[in-house]
Amino acid sequence: MRALIIGGGIIGLSAAWYLAEEGCDVTILEKGDLLDGCSFGNMGHLPISHVVPLAAPGMLEKGIRWMFNSSSPFYIKPSLRPSLLRWGIRFLANSTQKHVQYSAKPLAELMQLTKQLLLADWSPKMNIQTTQNGLLMLCKKEATLHEELETASLVRSLGMQAIELSKEEVLAMEPAVRPDVCGAVWYKDDLHLQPNALMAQLPALLEARGVKILRNAEVASFDRSKGKILSLRLKNGEIMQADGFVLATGSWSPAMARMAGERIDLMPGKGYAMTLDMSDPQLRHPAILVDAKVAMTPWAGSLRMGSTMEIAPMNESVHWARVQGILDAVPEFLPGLAGNMALDQLKKGIDQAARSHAVAYPGLWYGFRPVSHDGLPYIGWAPHNSNLLMATGHAMLGVSMSTGTGKLIAEMACGKPVSIPVEAFRPGR
Ligand SMILES: Cc1cc2nc3c(=O)[nH]c(=O)nc-3n(C[C@H](O)[C@H](O)[C@H](O)COP(=O)(O)OP(=O)(O)OC[C@H]3O[C@@H](n4cnc5c(N)ncnc54)[C@H](O)[C@@H]3O)c2cc1C
Repeated sequence: MRALIIGGGIIGLSAAWYLAEEGCDVTILEKGDLLDGCSFGNMGHLPISHVVPLAAPGMLEKGIRWMFNSSSPFYIKPSLRPSLLRWGIRFLANSTQKHVQYSAKPLAELMQLTKQLLLADWSPKMNIQTTQNGLLMLCKKEATLHEELETASLVRSLGMQAIELSKEEVLAMEPAVRPDVCGAVWYKDDLHLQPNALMAQLPALLEARGVKILRNAEVASFDRSKGKILSLRLKNGEIMQADGFVLATGSWSPAMARMAGERIDLMPGKGYAMTLDMSDPQLRHPAILVDAKVAMTPWAGSLRMGSTMEIAPMNESVHWARVQGILDAVPEFLPGLAGNMALDQLKKGIDQAARSHAVAYPGLWYGFRPVSHDGLPYIGWAPHNSNLLMATGHAMLGVSMSTGTGKLIAEMACGKPVSIPVEAFRPGR
């Protein structure tokens, strides 16, 4: 079977891996160079314990309340655009406890499948610093810890480890953390890796398996007939045919779906990350500062800090106050970083960039998370094209659901039984 995959982010690459394993003739079409999507500079956490979907009670209210706080970590840009209104109404309708209960098991199954496949198929073949030492959710306020403990019991009910840690236990595990932390939950089954290294090494492995990767190949339209895609046309005019097509275009998916006569209610959720090169990255485990909603990942020789979820149409502007919010929050938890030369330099540069209303800063990366209307990815057959599979909408967990999504796509494409139930991920739901 000839398969064309549109989008060379982590999801498109994963689909290519498992389609090639099934013996398909696979070509990936990527409008950039594989290094400019959302998959490159993210935090690299595989938090298989993150089973609460983004559409959860209180999320939209928080977004609306925080609209007026320039440094808040979650933000929805007010707009009367039909796409935002439709997404917002559906997101709100799904932000219920019932939806959380419904989503937790399928999310857990998909992330557990991803972990198992990643450890078996990818980690041994690449130097990506895969580390299995869990994730710490560090809390400063009792109320935050209390909320986290509720999530911990849901995670435990799904068979995963969620260990409550006292302040003393946190400080014993992470001596660099400020002593005013009140406790933490340690999700021991979580792992992390270096996403830049993953995205840099995976294409060569795919090519070695016979996958063709076309860079600077932007898909501009489809030719369809009788509920089927016959061919697609690239921006340069080239026409390409295949038996099956996979839509894996992340935050670009709504426009791509429209071209194919499909509809997806998905919004881009912009997030920022910055990396400090330092011989001692201070932390021994990846952590999320729950009160400040800032994530941190230590690797050999560096520490990455990231945060914010700006729900807005894709744009190239930088919200400097939110970036400064991340840089201010980190030394609050890691006091050893106050006065750190690399951090000070980064802060100075970011302050200057903010004052001069710059549109970029060399040490700052951002990406657009593809946020679905209900916090679950779309994985499966498209409703209006019998030979189009969708693999998108993974929001803040695209790496964590990568190999699992790729495996499911390959199984569906080849008419095989699927490894886990997929009804919750059905496109068109
Ligand atoms: C700050 C931040 C931190 C994050 N941390 C984590 C984390 O710790 N763990 C985790 O699991 N996830 C994390 N994520 C989320 C994760 O990065 C995304 O879920 C994931 O990258 C989405 O992958 P994707 O392949 O769907 O999309 P992308 O990586 O965006 O890939 C889509 C690709 O499609 C291409 N494309 C679009 N239109 C066309 C077209 N017309 N023709 C051809 N190609 C096209 C684009 O150029 C792009 O390369 C984070 C995200 C952010 C922003």
